[in-house]
Amino acid sequence: MENSEEQIAAWSKKAEMNDYRCDICGELIGYDERETYFETKYCATHANRMSKDD
Ligand SMILES: [Zn+2]
Repeated sequence: MENSEEQIAAWSKKAEMNDYRCDICGELIGYDERETYFETKYCATHANRMSKDD
């Protein structure tokens, strides 16, 4: 439910293993960016930028 440290740590490992990175800047995707990433392939910053450009 909450964003526990354990969940965040587990996500970080998973992101590294699966190479979840922003398509634009190549940053590893953070725990709270993951939903954005799965929808857009971008980090939160770039997903916002792209949707504004649209
Ligand atoms: Zn990015």
